Amino acid sequence: MSQSFHPPQRTLMGPGPSDVSPRVLGALGRPTIGHLDPLFITLMDDIKRLLQYAFKTDNELTIPLSAPGSAGMEAAFVNLVSPGDTVIVCQNGVFGGRMKENVERCGAIPVMVHDRWGDPVDPGKVESAFKAHPEATLLAFVHSETSTGVRSDAATLCGIAKNNGALVVVDTVTTLGGIDLQVDNWGADAVYSGTQKCLSCVPGLSPMTFSPSAVERIQNRTSRVQSWFLDMQLVMGYWGGNSKRAYHHTAPVNALYALHESLLILEEEGLEASFCRHRENHLQLVTGLEALGLEMAVDPTWRLPQLNAVCIPAGVDDAEVRRRLLQEFNLEIGAGLGELAGKQWRIGLMGHASNPVNVQRCLTALRCVLGR
Ligand SMILES: *Cc1c(COP(=O)(O)O)cnc(C)c1O
Repeated sequence: MSQSFHPPQRTLMGPGPSDVSPRVLGALGRPTIGHLDPLFITLMDDIKRLLQYAFKTDNELTIPLSAPGSAGMEAAFVNLVSPGDTVIVCQNGVFGGRMKENVERCGAIPVMVHDRWGDPVDPGKVESAFKAHPEATLLAFVHSETSTGVRSDAATLCGIAKNNGALVVVDTVTTLGGIDLQVDNWGADAVYSGTQKCLSCVPGLSPMTFSPSAVERIQNRTSRVQSWFLDMQLVMGYWGGNSKRAYHHTAPVNALYALHESLLILEEEGLEASFCRHRENHLQLVTGLEALGLEMAVDPTWRLPQLNAVCIPAGVDDAEVRRRLLQEFNLEIGAGLGELAGKQWRIGLMGHASNPVNVQRCLTALRCVLGR
């Protein structure tokens, strides 16, 4: 006989999901109502307003996609890219590689701008790529590379795209709620995020926003969007408009209660206060890690406070350390991803999990497991 599943109470300090706050878990358990119930439509409108606040945008098309961050990425590409388009894709970690894959699957041509994993995207290289490819219609980059713990200069990169008449896709899955994100001021056109990183909500939703220029490009498409589920023209009929909502799919009702609660928490704290808290806990963690003789992998200027890449010291068994942290301390930290596997750990301080207690818990556990 199978039994109910009762997970242990872990402390999640990896690359996501992060610890979900009790308030959000409480919201998840409220009674399910119909997804076209007038009260639910009121909730959808409030979620849109709260997302506009979090993204710092007035974009009308600002919604949570009913699928994880990867689907947000895919939605950005399938809607804005047509077969034969040229797209400049920046890669300085794992997620830029997925963007390339998306562009190829849209039948478009990716022009890659590569930077070392651990460095930010180099705006000079992006300028050169536009010079070499004036036909490019889109620039895509990851603002917070979760695989390396690096932030790139989004304002500058978006400015380069604007100057070259291209639209911009920005991955902000790990950014939203953790560090500054200014969709309108930067002029970003399609921006997607996730719920399980700095929003500390359950995984499985992708908040997204499209600028008026992006909506115009979608409406002027001559070829149909290859994905039915992610076609924004159809999704707009469900999430857009004021009173008239056409059935497209059944929204994940309870997950949206949870998202609403997590966004309320963010608004109550205030965006700038949240950024400040992420930064302070990050600085405490870095001080403690360095005191243990550990070395940070990223230059201080580009470090993400919510995702701390740490070099694994020579002679230390990566998997064994993470196994002991989990078994003995109920503490999850992230392994290295892609070419950084076995070389780095990724310690997340995201959303609700970015607090002084977690910083100390992690340092104490590491001190013990590393025998320092
Ligand atoms: C986590 C993450 C994704 C993917 O999100 P999922 O919810 O796991 O699909 C995409 N981009 C970045 C930068 C991420 O950190």
